[in-house]
Amino acid sequence: MLFSDLKLSPALLKAIHDEGYTTPTPVQEKAIPSILEGRDMLAGAQTGTGKTAGFTLPILELLSQKPHNNKAKPLLRVLILTPTRELAAQVGESVKAYGKYLPFKSAVIFGGVGIHPQIQTLRSGIDILVATPGRLLDHISQGTIDLRHIDTFVLDEADRMLDMGFIKDIRRVISLLPAKRQNLLFSATYSDDIKKLCESILKNPAIVEV
Ligand code: AMP
Repeated sequence: MLFSDLKLSPALLKAIHDEGYTTPTPVQEKAIPSILEGRDMLAGAQTGTGKTAGFTLPILELLSQKPHNNKAKPLLRVLILTPTRELAAQVGESVKAYGKYLPFKSAVIFGGVGIHPQIQTLRSGIDILVATPGRLLDHISQGTIDLRHIDTFVLDEADRMLDMGFIKDIRRVISLLPAKRQNLLFSATYSDDIKKLCESILKNPAIVEV
């Protein structure tokens, strides 16, 4: 299979070409078509499989198919939660790299650094936010993030999130999201806790195993 078989727009294919990727990885082949259909997804992919592009590319494609809300100050439509700041930074880099020919703004927020520059960035308006749970909740309690327009929610490395004790934070964030949204959950392992979380978040998910 080629990337050009995956119904991605020329702007994304060009960015993929710039990255030097020739063919999609197995998780990308399976995940991209289902995400483009708007389905929820449970994917059992580890780091190193290309899972980040597997969700980032179709999310960017779907965003570009929806009318842009307000170019000067976009509304936040995509929320990607990751367990660690390193992973958040990495996912944020991917969003920027794959979206470089598209007009979307993205930001990464995590704890351990000053909150004020993040507030400025959020205030200017972004389409896509990559965040760790604790700092996201700090922003929510300060009223600096509006989750009312989120239509795509990604939980990356959900098993690590639970291991790190983020379950309450995750549930609180989810309780603030609009009910109608697409949910993508990535986890390398399936404990009973992950199964429970999936049951409460995902609706009729496509299951991707690699
Ligand atoms: P990830 O599993 O998302 O952490 O990605 C692992 C690495 O694979 C990253 O360095 C990506 O840049 C790279 N990668 C992702 N998709 C492809 C692809 N289709 N071909 C070659 N490398 C890729």
